[in-house]
Amino acid sequence: GARTRFAPSPTGSLHVGGARTALYSWLWARQNGGQFLLRVEDTDTARSTRESEDEVLADLAWLGLVHDEGPTAGGPHGPYRQSERMQGGLYQELAQKLLDSGAAYRCFCTPEELDAKRAAAEAAGENPQYDGTWRDADPAEVQRRLDAGEPYTVRFRVPDGKVVGIEDAVRGRVEWDVQATVGDFILLRSGGMPVYNFCVAVDDADMKVSTVIRAEEHLTNTVRQVLILEALGFPLPRFAHLSLVLGEGPARALPGGQLRAHQSRGVFDLKKLNWINGQHLRALAEEERAALVGRHLAEAGVAMAADSPFSLSASRMVAEKIELVNDASPLVRDALAYPLADSLASSGAQKLADELRRVGGALVAAHREGVLPDGASPDFEAEWKSAVKSFGKELGLKGKSLFMPLRLAVTGRMAGPDVGAQLQLLALAPDGAKCESVPL
Ligand code: GLU
Repeated sequence: GARTRFAPSPTGSLHVGGARTALYSWLWARQNGGQFLLRVEDTDTARSTRESEDEVLADLAWLGLVHDEGPTAGGPHGPYRQSERMQGGLYQELAQKLLDSGAAYRCFCTPEELDAKRAAAEAAGENPQYDGTWRDADPAEVQRRLDAGEPYTVRFRVPDGKVVGIEDAVRGRVEWDVQATVGDFILLRSGGMPVYNFCVAVDDADMKVSTVIRAEEHLTNTVRQVLILEALGFPLPRFAHLSLVLGEGPARALPGGQLRAHQSRGVFDLKKLNWINGQHLRALAEEERAALVGRHLAEAGVAMAADSPFSLSASRMVAEKIELVNDASPLVRDALAYPLADSLASSGAQKLADELRRVGGALVAAHREGVLPDGASPDFEAEWKSAVKSFGKELGLKGKSLFMPLRLAVTGRMAGPDVGAQLQLLALAPDGAKCESVPL
């Protein structure tokens, strides 16, 4: 079976591109009866944090992308946290192997010398690649420097005229003329710390990863990793470099159904995502949705206990209208705010304003007289309708001419959630949550 891995650098939150890469890796392993590994690439100690690792792991778990081997799950090829792999001596051992075979060499250039070379190359408009000063150094000179304890880096000897090629599962044949694109790059820093690409190549081989699925931005690393793997005599994994995920742009279907990855760029379709979220919200059990809505309302400052009848009523009122839980508070706020009959009048809707005052007044009266039902009544829906109808009869209004002003009296809007649901919300709202001029 395929062994895939997701190798996050814990320097921030899991972003949608990372989630997509993890999803493909997980799917591929599952589809092929293999294993999905999680390797935490935390060697950049300045930027990596354990909080970020925890967050990424929690997000993957939330997405259901359960891994078979990883830092906490363990497994036969650990440790799975790169920082913990440093002590094992594996990288140094393999670097020595490359030195012995001549695939790597020691470079005694100082950082100052390298800076000067780079600046000179740039000034001359040349490629600022390492110039190979120590590539074919006299062995006696190398030994003299070693004996003197001078610091050195271990560099990969990029073979002259070599072309590296891979059969990428997404992009097809990808080739690099290595001399033109890659200088003799560092494997071990002075002090013996392995560089990122050396770690990744060695770890993928050591963890028996068969398929490397990652973002296309890593292609420039791939050429180095392939050179390293070949020089060490390790089998190459299969590569699949996924296209980037872009923000909204020209509409394009996201791949679905089978595991298919396109070369064209993915589009992160926020509209569709929100729509899906709305579907999921509506599919929740009522209490669960009410708890979410209640928590959001409390956070948004519509202070009501998360488990109160109020949040249940609010949640019922907004359920058909929202895609995100966060959409609830404006609707609930509207329902709690009294519309301005005066502003209606000043905008010329005099008749509507008059009726609004009439209906609003009737509502207040009905409420005082106890005609309107208690907000907590299980039959509120039926009760308020009959109450409203009966005072509509007194006013000589019915149908639209009763319900429109009523809606306006309650919400200030011509359209929106069900009026009964909003009335119930008003009846349930603690006093502080209501605008002073709410008619109930
Ligand atoms: N650690 C790299 C990242 O987070 C991924 C490396 C890889 O997949 O090879 O971008």
